[in-house]
Amino acid sequence: MKIVDHISNAKGTPLFSFELLPPIKGQSIKGIFDAIDPLMEFNPPFIDVTYLREDYIYKQHPNGLLEKIAYRKRPSTVATCAAIMNKYNVDAVPHLICGGFTKDETENALIDLQFLGIDNVLVLRGDARKSDSSFVPTPDGHAYASELLQHVVDMNNGRYLHDYMEDAAKTDFCIGVAGYPEKHYESPNLDTDFKYLKHKVDTGADFIVTQMFFDNKKYKALVDKCRANGINVPIIPGLKPITSSKQLVSLPKIFHLDIPMELSEAIQACKSEKDVKEVGIEWMIHQCQELKEMGAPVLHFYTMGNPEPTKKIVQAVF
Ligand code: FAD
Repeated sequence: MKIVDHISNAKGTPLFSFELLPPIKGQSIKGIFDAIDPLMEFNPPFIDVTYLREDYIYKQHPNGLLEKIAYRKRPSTVATCAAIMNKYNVDAVPHLICGGFTKDETENALIDLQFLGIDNVLVLRGDARKSDSSFVPTPDGHAYASELLQHVVDMNNGRYLHDYMEDAAKTDFCIGVAGYPEKHYESPNLDTDFKYLKHKVDTGADFIVTQMFFDNKKYKALVDKCRANGINVPIIPGLKPITSSKQLVSLPKIFHLDIPMELSEAIQACKSEKDVKEVGIEWMIHQCQELKEMGAPVLHFYTMGNPEPTKKIVQAVF
């Protein structure tokens, strides 16, 4: 079922959902099921599965030469989605990125998703490879999420890349895009970032999922700005509790966000990592309660393969 239909069927009651990463190459699917099982009692209507682009590794040969090899560490987004749908009978939402795909490969991937019965996709540009200083599009691939989105919208209208067939079957994807309450790190300012978010919605995005944030005022400001500018699609807050003191540094560095001083000071005052986890969970419980009051349609958690903190929060909030 489409995410927008899950939301409208809930008639204003907030839903719970979460995101996880596909297994590292060499791990079994069991790790995914172990990360999902503890959360199924809260009836998530959908589960997101991220997509990780290939990166480069260097293999040293006996003669000392280094070989550059393209390597995907977590290769199985689509199969992980299929396994989740098969085992739990919930909607799986694959993330689809621009990086690493030519337009033809994108189109073929979308046909696979449609045939698997996947109704929703979250379309993204994708992050830069670790080996690149900034995002490098694949030759003949899409450079921005809005271009990828347009491609999906075209297929939803029966228009394929090479228009090889009259009356081609229309896909029927419900399409999500990313939004940034604290702006995307490459944007010069919030207004420019917002202009491109609006462009994605005008192009046909059905819902927005936000980057994680720790200050609800930033989510509210984004929602208010969207509504004032005619963006009426659901805006799903993305959430992650702080679970270790290291994250005070790593989360701002990786996700380009602010941690409110009240939270950072409470964490710095903790005597143990166990206390840090409790502070992080308490903060998130409070955030979620407020978000429910603010009318957030879904509370969407970045579990990163660790379901326990999310479970404690959801138990307290739902
Ligand atoms: P875009 O919307 O294309 O925006 C990228 C930047 O370009 C922004 O600064 C924007 O303001 C600007 N911009 C947009 N359009 C234009 C234009 N036409 N001209 C000039 N500038 C423009 N990454 C992954 O690799 N895999 C994942 O599974 C994944 N999942 C994510 C899920 C969520 C909910 C979020 C919030 C992020 C996720 N990411 C993922 C990270 C995401 O790929 C990065 O943040 C990436 O850098 C930007 O992606 P985007 O879709 O927001 O890009």
